[in-house]
Amino acid sequence: MLHITDLTKRYESGGLEQFALQPISLSVEQGEFVAIMGPSGSGKSTFMNLLGCLDKPSSGSYVLDGIEISQLDENKLADVRNRKIGFVFQAFHLLPRSSALTNVELPMLYAGFSRKERRERATEALGRVGLAERLHNRPNQLSGGQKQRVAIARSLVNRPAILLADEPTGNLDSRSSLEIMAIFQELHAQGVTILLVTHETDIAEHAERIITFRDGAIIADDRVQNRRIAQ
Ligand code: ADP
Ligand code: ADP
Repeated sequence: MLHITDLTKRYESGGLEQFALQPISLSVEQGEFVAIMGPSGSGKSTFMNLLGCLDKPSSGSYVLDGIEISQLDENKLADVRNRKIGFVFQAFHLLPRSSALTNVELPMLYAGFSRKERRERATEALGRVGLAERLHNRPNQLSGGQKQRVAIARSLVNRPAILLADEPTGNLDSRSSLEIMAIFQELHAQGVTILLVTHETDIAEHAERIITFRDGAIIADDRVQNRRIAQ
């Protein structure tokens, strides 16, 4: 699904070139559920921005779903971002005055679906995350965990090749965090490919593989033993 070879990102600072990412090589197969850990400044955000086609590498190759990303111009990059990648953020990023349905329909506006198709797919996606009874609620009528479930539904409606989640439980209490991890595990069971950044070991252990960054390099890539199952 995703093949990375010698990918780097350098920044210029005070005339000096600094590696935010050392040459990184990595493959993630279709349907894997991967957690990404590492201390602050270790390169996690830089890496996720490259994976999400929000930024371009300084060198190396990134192939997503058969497409060489590192060669694309801005327009093509935006296109891949819209069609191939679902994003979930710590802060939800929902439209505050719009219903759950409208929020979830949003990514489909650019994908050329009819109004009817948008409504049907958004309704189905909200059902998938357990919000079938909340279609017409606005974000301020939903709990934190429910808001994040709307964001997850929104990330899935274009059937992305990968789902990228950046600290998705960072704003949630532990009960809501477990609910969210249960949803990620359910999506994983349905075959969705997930990469999730967290600095909480408890959260990372819900994934099946944990990749650890330090100083812009991958220092560990482990299969999770005795994986936690969220209730
Ligand atoms: P993390 O997400 O793990 O906290 P980052 O990817 O944000 O780490 O940062 C990795 C390294 O790259 C850090 O040393 C950081 O200072 C540097 N860095 C990140 N973004 C920039 C930027 N826009 N300009 C210069 N240096 C940056
Ligand atoms: P379909 O044949 O209708 O696409 P599948 O059996 O492939 O259905 O998938 C089962 C469910 O998973 C459907 O509800 C579909 O919308 C959803 N689905 C399939 N692939 C993805 C994906 N990559 N991301 C999100 N949802 C997906």
